[in-house]
Amino acid sequence: MFKAFLLEKDDDSGLAAGQITDLSEDQLPEGEVTVAVAFSTVNYKDGLCLSAKGGGLVRTYPHVPGIDFAGTVEASSDDRYKPGDRVVLTGWRVGEVHWGGYAQKARVKADWLVPLPDGITARQAMAVGTAGFTAMLAVMALEDHGLAPGQGPVLVTGAAGGVGSVACAILATLGYEVAGVTGRPETEGYLRDLGVSQIVAREEINETVKAPLERESWAGCVDAVGGDMLARVLGQMRYGASVAAVGLAGGAKLPASVIPFLLRGVNLLGIDSVMQPYDNRLRAWERVARDLPLDKLEAMVQPASLGDLPQLGEDILAGRIKGRVVVDVN
Ligand code: NDP
Repeated sequence: MFKAFLLEKDDDSGLAAGQITDLSEDQLPEGEVTVAVAFSTVNYKDGLCLSAKGGGLVRTYPHVPGIDFAGTVEASSDDRYKPGDRVVLTGWRVGEVHWGGYAQKARVKADWLVPLPDGITARQAMAVGTAGFTAMLAVMALEDHGLAPGQGPVLVTGAAGGVGSVACAILATLGYEVAGVTGRPETEGYLRDLGVSQIVAREEINETVKAPLERESWAGCVDAVGGDMLARVLGQMRYGASVAAVGLAGGAKLPASVIPFLLRGVNLLGIDSVMQPYDNRLRAWERVARDLPLDKLEAMVQPASLGDLPQLGEDILAGRIKGRVVVDVN
């Protein structure tokens, strides 16, 4: 038997709620690899999956949420993995459509796993988690489109959140000048410790676009917010600069004009972590191990256990989580 945070749906109300439950291994779904999970995390999507209606992501109940995990292979029928191998999983709709990481054991397809690079522990991997892995993908995409240190400030929106915190730390470590947008002025000290040199108040930049072009301010942008903020940011990019669109914490609409694309050659780069090809996943985890200093990573961590999940789910949807929650499932 092992412990899991299991969501079950009430037939009368149609609403789901979760609790810690004992499960047996034969209840796990099919898959080639059984993993002893060490840590999972709480991402924005986990907040949606934990909510009473499953955020439109969870299809069937009972369900084990948790969109990412790190741990050790216990059993494998696939040649690529053997017992004792350290692995990490993000994406592939694990925790949404498939049972996820909020349990002491998970069974998944071998294709979904990535070997954990040397020099990074399971706990550190989950301090990074889907949010941080996606931040790394965003930085890689900006670099692939020509961003380099010394070109001017790089803006990170939703800076004190999970994606934002990791993006700030990576960019600062790589030598970029980092500007962070936050709606929480009390996080200024935290952001400065991560390497942010300019704090931008959310209300300064979260208004509907009035002029399609504003002063050319940013050499690049990692955007976790979307909506009005992304629309404004497009008009503030320097000539030829790129925005990596990662998230929608502020809304899924994009009330923008095409003028920044046409007159300033601005690029809007879409970042998807879920179906990301294997080679790029490996590249991103290796870059994380290299480019994210562990002391900065530790400063982002809020430790938690399976029993904390209902509250943490609500907190992340309300934008109350600072940095990264690391869930010790044992
Ligand atoms: P967090 O909640 O940790 O971070 C989001 C941050 O956005 C908040 O901390 C807050 O930062 C800011 N924010 C929240 N609400 C608003 C609002 N209404 N207006 C403006 N800013 C707001 O979430 P994550 O970092 O886990 O995820 C961020 C986004 O990225 C989510 O939308 C998530 O779905 C998406 N995502 C996408 C992935 C992909 O593959 N494309 C993968 C991972 C995440 P502050 O308090 O500093 O203002």
